[in-house]
Amino acid sequence: MHGEDLRTRLRSALATTTARLGEAEVPSPSADARALIAHAADTDEPLVLLDELPEDFDERLERATARRERREPLQLILGRAPFRRLVIDVRPGVFIPRPETELALDLLLEHLDEAPAAVIDLCAGSGALGAAVLDELPCSRVLSVEVDPAAAALTAHNLERAGTGRGRVITADLLGEVPELAHLEPVDAVLSNPPYIPPEAIPRDPEVLAHDPHRALFGGGDDGLEVPRAVIGWARHLLRPGGVLVMEHADVQGEEARDAAAAIGGFDLIRTLPDLTGRDRFLVVRRAPGEPTSRSERLTR
Ligand code: GLN
Repeated sequence: MHGEDLRTRLRSALATTTARLGEAEVPSPSADARALIAHAADTDEPLVLLDELPEDFDERLERATARRERREPLQLILGRAPFRRLVIDVRPGVFIPRPETELALDLLLEHLDEAPAAVIDLCAGSGALGAAVLDELPCSRVLSVEVDPAAAALTAHNLERAGTGRGRVITADLLGEVPELAHLEPVDAVLSNPPYIPPEAIPRDPEVLAHDPHRALFGGGDDGLEVPRAVIGWARHLLRPGGVLVMEHADVQGEEARDAAAAIGGFDLIRTLPDLTGRDRFLVVRRAPGEPTSRSERLTR
């Protein structure tokens, strides 16, 4: 194709797709249009560098645009989501990793003196947090725990891509007994982006409400903190003295999350930290020294 024709075609595709997505009230129509065009053109390069388009470009773009018009999440259409240095594979039916969760790993490293040898990711979803640990900390091992078997399979896949042989997944419900966890040696760190939305706080975006599994969104109980409380309880049992938990929560849950950690006990540091927009979004707790949890105590919790 002549360079000029190609550029005209791309310009017109961008204008039409942006207008259609705008009409469908997609929040970022122009950015999404560019991403869909790159997807249809089968390229990761900037569009200006393209010198040809695949034969089925128009059909591919039409299919992708129609899906996004129906408010299917962009990440599901592309099959991937950026997370820190990685591109995580995503699949329908599994919670899509969010940019705000990326900060959890920085907060963890700020609270530890050295890179953690053993990290547990509770409520792993697609496995993004654990995969980021494997990618950025080449000496770390990760154990991810996920209740949904389909999500656990995706976690295994993403861990393997990020750090072959250093990641492991177990499928388990943290609200019940988990013998595999009860038997573990204490670890340096626990990361978690659990479900935490309270029952009445129904997400507004159709991308979230119709596509993220509700089990990954709503945390249970009157306050949405049933699963987060279980996460904090497990962290108390799993962390070595001095080990750190970083757990994401909703911006209104800072105090409740600190209270939950204080009630569970065994921590000598309990604090709330903000996300990049200044909202309270992370609970950080450190396991108190001199109070090792015995295996029998862990087994009978
Ligand atoms: N952050 C999610 C959302 O934006 C809520 C649930 C979660 O991350 N664990 O909908």
